Amino acid sequence: MVGSTEQALRTTGTSDEPDRAELPVRARGLVKRYKEIVAVDHVDLTVRRGEVYGFLGPNGAGKTTTLRMLLGLIVPSEGRVQLFGRDPIADGARALDGVAGFVEAPRFYPYLSGRKNLQMMAALDGYGAADRVDEVLGLVDLLGAGNQRVGGYSHGMGQRLGIAGALLRSPRLLILDEPATGLDPAGIRDMRLLIMRLAAEGITVLLSSHQLAEVQEVCDRVAIIRKGKVVYEGPLVELRGSSERSYRLHTSDDQRALELARVQAGIKDLVGSGSELRFNASEEAAGSLSIALGAAGVAIYSLSPVHATLEDLFFELTEGTDGAGELDALAAGRGAGGVLVADAESAGGDMTEAPRG
Ligand code: ATP
Repeated sequence: MVGSTEQALRTTGTSDEPDRAELPVRARGLVKRYKEIVAVDHVDLTVRRGEVYGFLGPNGAGKTTTLRMLLGLIVPSEGRVQLFGRDPIADGARALDGVAGFVEAPRFYPYLSGRKNLQMMAALDGYGAADRVDEVLGLVDLLGAGNQRVGGYSHGMGQRLGIAGALLRSPRLLILDEPATGLDPAGIRDMRLLIMRLAAEGITVLLSSHQLAEVQEVCDRVAIIRKGKVVYEGPLVELRGSSERSYRLHTSDDQRALELARVQAGIKDLVGSGSELRFNASEEAAGSLSIALGAAGVAIYSLSPVHATLEDLFFELTEGTDGAGELDALAAGRGAGGVLVADAESAGGDMTEAPRG
C-alpha cells in the first residue's frame, strides 16, 4: 500500500497479547466540525467482540470522517474513542495494537506484483509479517495472482489485496471503509464471503457502506448514519420489526369502515381504493381498528400487512420520502434491541447533504 497517511492504517505492535475485557470500538459523543459544516454530530458506536458491524449511510453522511476519528487519523472536535479500551489520540500507536484496515481505497505500487507489495509492507511491519505473505494472499484468494502486477488487477482484486495488507498483522479488529464500493455483483459476493471467513476466524469487523444489500447478509448489527447523526443502531432484523406497516383492509361495509378508521387513533395515510382500504399503522393501532370494526358490526374479510422491505426502511431512514415524520413514525414503534434516534431536525424536510469543501 503506498502510504498516504490516510491509507496507512496498519498498526504497530502485535495482536497476541492476552484478551482484554474492553470493547473493540467504543465511541461516545463524537463530533467533527469543519468550520460551519458538522460532518459528524454526536455519534455513539459500540462494536462488540466477534461482531461484523455495518456502518451504513448515504454519500456524505459522515462515515469516512467517523472512521478516521476511530483510527486516530483526525482529532475529534468533541467526544472520545476507545479501541480495546485505548484512546488513539491519547495513547497514540499503542491504541492501534491489533487494529488494521483502510479508509478510502487501498493503494499499491502498480508496477510491482501483489506479493512484492505485501513483502514490502511486511518488511516495514516486522513482527513476523513477512512469514504471513502467502497465508494472507491465500485468505483473500489471490495466491494464484500473487505474482501479477497490481496494475493489471481488477478493482475487486485491489480491494482484496488491501485487506490482505491489513491482515499481515493478524488484527483483532479490522476497519474497512466501503470495501465493496465499485465492485460488480460477483465482486460484492466475493467480498461478502471473505468478510464472513474473516469473522469466522474470530476477527471483529467494522465496515462502512452506502448500500444496504452489501451488508445485510453479513452484519450482526448496524449503525445507520444520516447527515452526521446515528439514526438507528442495532440488528437489522429488529429495524424491520420496529416499523409501522402498510395494511390492506377488506370488509363487509368499506364505507362504514372508512368512517371508523378516520377517527381511530394511529391510523395514517388512509385511502379507499376499489374494494379495499389502505392505511399505515402500528400493529397495535391496526388491532384496535379491528376491534372497533367488530363492535360496529362490520365484518373483516381480510386485514393484511404489506411488508416493507429493509430497503424501504433504509431509504426512509437515510433519505425520507415526503420529508416529514418518517423517523418519528419509525421511532414510535422501535424494536426491542435496536435504538432508533429521531429528532425534529433529522426528521425534517431538508434532505440535501452538506457540500464537501
Ligand atoms: P462517502 O460515502 O461519499 O465517502 P461519507 O459518509 O464517508 O461519504 P464523509 O466523507 O465523512 O462522508 O463526509 C461527511 C461530510 O463532511 C461531507 O459533507 C463532507 O463534505 C464533509 N467533509 C469531510 N471531510 C472534510 C474536510 N476535510 N473538510 C471539509 N469538509 C469535509
